[in-house]
Amino acid sequence: MKNSFQAVVVDNKDSNFSVETKHVSLEDLSAGEVVIKVHYSGVNYKDGLAGTPDGKIVRSYPHIPGIDMAGIVVSSEDSRFKEGDSVIATSYEIGVSHSGGYSEYARIPADWIVQLPEGLSLKEAMIIGTAGFTAALSIQRLQDNGLKPENGSVLVTGATGGVGSFGVAMLSQLGFNVIASSGKKEAEGYLTSIGASRVIGREDVYNGKVKALDKQEWAGAIDPVGGESLAAIISKIIYGGSVAVSGLTGGGAVPTSVFPFILRGVNLLGIDSVYCPMGIRQKLWERIATDLKPKNLSSFVYKEVSLQQLPEELPKILEGGITGRMIVAVE
Ligand code: NDP
Repeated sequence: MKNSFQAVVVDNKDSNFSVETKHVSLEDLSAGEVVIKVHYSGVNYKDGLAGTPDGKIVRSYPHIPGIDMAGIVVSSEDSRFKEGDSVIATSYEIGVSHSGGYSEYARIPADWIVQLPEGLSLKEAMIIGTAGFTAALSIQRLQDNGLKPENGSVLVTGATGGVGSFGVAMLSQLGFNVIASSGKKEAEGYLTSIGASRVIGREDVYNGKVKALDKQEWAGAIDPVGGESLAAIISKIIYGGSVAVSGLTGGGAVPTSVFPFILRGVNLLGIDSVYCPMGIRQKLWERIATDLKPKNLSSFVYKEVSLQQLPEELPKILEGGITGRMIVAVE
């Protein structure tokens, strides 16, 4: 491997915040047993936050962000991995307190790495990334709690976002009738093309009022939005149905009541991709490469950027308005 290679470095020297593509060396990377030549990474909301001075994501500076990466092992001190293995590394401390994927090389603890499953390329793995993994984990938990296509329609909120888009596509792949909720009127074509049966507005989910028990509409829901809208969803889930909640783009406070839980047996399922146990993580990546794999993955790519372009592109994810995923081709 090269002694000196390129990485995106965020720094806060003397309170001067900077995001730059620079030359670094292996000594600049956090410790780990496995060195990976990174081929692709992705841009997630958390990465956008890492690129701003008040993002509250990065623990110490200088830091290399990038919570997702896929690449080839160049050296390993752990018997589970060997030179030449194709691998995926996401979650845990990667890109947060451990140097991440916006670098030609990364050094990662073996416990955080998954072998790339057959049926998925390195690029496809990063189109899916943490967003798609979170959608897959949501689906797994909904199915573990009894969700089947014959139970009824499944709602996906924040449908044009990363988690939402993959939620729509993966559920449709499994034969579910998917209702996609989006704040973007112009996105109907995109959402039906990736598998939504029907597209509704955010106001059709939450119109400013939450009833303790509302008309039963959906057998299940994937909800990366949270907030008051989540309270409204819970009140509209059918008897015995479940909601998988993963995010808070709509807010953190959820003004619900006990009634949907004690009178309809509704389940609220918490989804955390970061510390999801490795056994479940490996099985889910296998599913992502097989029954959950969306057709035509390239239609999810909003933009492919280089390490050099990243400092300029990173903040854009925080502005909203992006449909699909931005991926990073690392030279
Ligand atoms: P994106 O930015 O890609 O998408 C978020 C989507 O939410 C938007 O595209 C928009 O969709 C919708 N949205 C935005 N603002 C609002 C609002 N005020 N009210 C309602 N909907 C809104 O983000 P991701 O999909 O990557 O992540 C979504 C959430 O999930 C984030 O909070 C993120 O932190 C969290 N997350 C959690 C993970 C976990 O492990 N629990 C892992 C990954 C992400 P539209 O316009 O179509 O309505």
